[in-house]
Amino acid sequence: MSYFRHAIDAMTGYVPGEQPKPGTKIIKLNTNENPYPPSPDALNILRTLDSEWLRRYPDPFAREFCAAVSEALGVPTDWIIVGNGSDDVLNVLVRACAEGRDRKVVYPMPTYVLYRTLAAMQPAEVVEVPYPQDFTLPIDELVAANGAITFIASPNSPSGHSVPLDDLRTLARQVAGIVAIDEAYVDFAESSALPLVQEFENVIVLRTLSKGYSLAGLRMGFAVANPQLLTGLFKVKDSYNIDAIATLVGAAAMRDQAYKNACAEKVKISRAKLTVDLKNLGFTVLDSQGNFVLATPPEGNAEQLYLGLKERGILVRYFKQPGLDNKLRISVGTDEQNQTLIEALVSLLK
Ligand code: PMP
Repeated sequence: MSYFRHAIDAMTGYVPGEQPKPGTKIIKLNTNENPYPPSPDALNILRTLDSEWLRRYPDPFAREFCAAVSEALGVPTDWIIVGNGSDDVLNVLVRACAEGRDRKVVYPMPTYVLYRTLAAMQPAEVVEVPYPQDFTLPIDELVAANGAITFIASPNSPSGHSVPLDDLRTLARQVAGIVAIDEAYVDFAESSALPLVQEFENVIVLRTLSKGYSLAGLRMGFAVANPQLLTGLFKVKDSYNIDAIATLVGAAAMRDQAYKNACAEKVKISRAKLTVDLKNLGFTVLDSQGNFVLATPPEGNAEQLYLGLKERGILVRYFKQPGLDNKLRISVGTDEQNQTLIEALVSLLK
């Protein structure tokens, strides 16, 4: 006898990457955090916070944060919904839109595994459309799958490729349901699909402060879409899904675009160097627009390398999944961290 719904018994829960305690002497390149600290303005909020902010319930709509997003991205405040990380917004989307066989969740594969987990919880039927080798968007297959939600991560994880704006436009034009463009890694990319929310009423673009803004521990994400689309999502979200501290700290980080952009530039330069260094060791590495690279080791021994690196205090991501089981996803660290990783790989490959 189980205490759970059939859907919960049947599903595999999402398995997050390893999260050792901060302060532990480890090089952490497994969950695509930013190697640089958050904006000094954001940290200052924590030092000067009036206790009133903790005593009272937070603003259910995080309006202080929405105002900062509006200023930074040039979108109206009523086009923004805020979440406890973008995972929370993804969850709200699936809760609100997907159900059973008629209202499917559709996405190209490989991609962010949480989409599958959220659909399984609902439960909603899933259609997974494989990406071809060159990662062009399989538009016709995605359209034919007729999703209530079609998720496209761009840049995608774990491949790191960005989906061209014109492909997203073609998809949005042909799909009747919602097209959710997950831009968790956009701060390290060359372009964004944000303009599509003005062109198409079925497009929602999701962003996070976990990557570009170095605030993964804060749990702050948001999405932009027309107010009519957001109405349904506001019905589903928890009233107080964003805490008062996150609202203020997130707003300060959002206002400091210059700092975020400077850190992203450093990461992009390090990404290029890491890619070359890995290729020189014989890895096949996909060009990435994220703050990570997907690398295939020369001798088909990704799991052993993952374990060997772990023994040396370096965490990278190894996915025990068909198609990804001989690959490592490596977050871009500081140049010093990346160098330590490369040296460890040299000794492991000997
Ligand atoms: N989307 C993608 C593609 C991701 O890789 C991640 C990070 N794991 C997220 C969304 C979630 O980010 P967060 O909940 O930290 O905002």
